Amino acid sequence: MKIGLDIDDCLYGYMAAFLEFHNSKYRTHLTVLDVNDYYNPGDLPITEEERVERVIQFQQSEKFDQITPLPGARAMLDYLRENEFEIYFATARFGFAKEKTPAILKRDFGEPLGEILFTGHLNGDASYTKGRAYDEKSIDLILEDHTENILDCTSRGIRVIVPHKKWNVGIENHPEACGLVKKVSSIAATIKTFEMMRERSL
Ligand SMILES: [Mg+2]
Repeated sequence: MKIGLDIDDCLYGYMAAFLEFHNSKYRTHLTVLDVNDYYNPGDLPITEEERVERVIQFQQSEKFDQITPLPGARAMLDYLRENEFEIYFATARFGFAKEKTPAILKRDFGEPLGEILFTGHLNGDASYTKGRAYDEKSIDLILEDHTENILDCTSRGIRVIVPHKKWNVGIENHPEACGLVKKVSSIAATIKTFEMMRERSL
């Protein structure tokens, strides 16, 4: 069974680490509960260029290199490998973060990994969305937390396991979710869902 895994905020606590960096550098007091828009945490009155610049600064910082996997993430990868899921990763990480990602995944999750698909406009092609990337690989079950990507996938008939986050509240009831979204509150619940989907496909 082919599956797609998002990296940030599905396998790693990216947003929390970014906010820690942002708070110390820009004297903000943001927490993950302030994030309604993933691309503009805290709804700050800054331009798109400034937002991207802050992300780049974060990627170059030690804080980025120190992000650790979410509790249970390694066990999930082990479960998926042991049960012969064919794993793909998809991420909009770009620039320095993109370069570092294969080594970081190998460090934290071991091998074999799986192909990493780098998507999104900051990787040079706005039309290469996660939905398109997964579609091209004939993947029909993924793990993803970002609303835009979730709906991009459900509109193509791809089933999505969604870890509950402040920025995706209510996504399961969105008209374009098409009944394909399964909300989960923990990695243990994510593993159970993969297990259930696997049994159904056998
Ligand atoms: Mg994510």
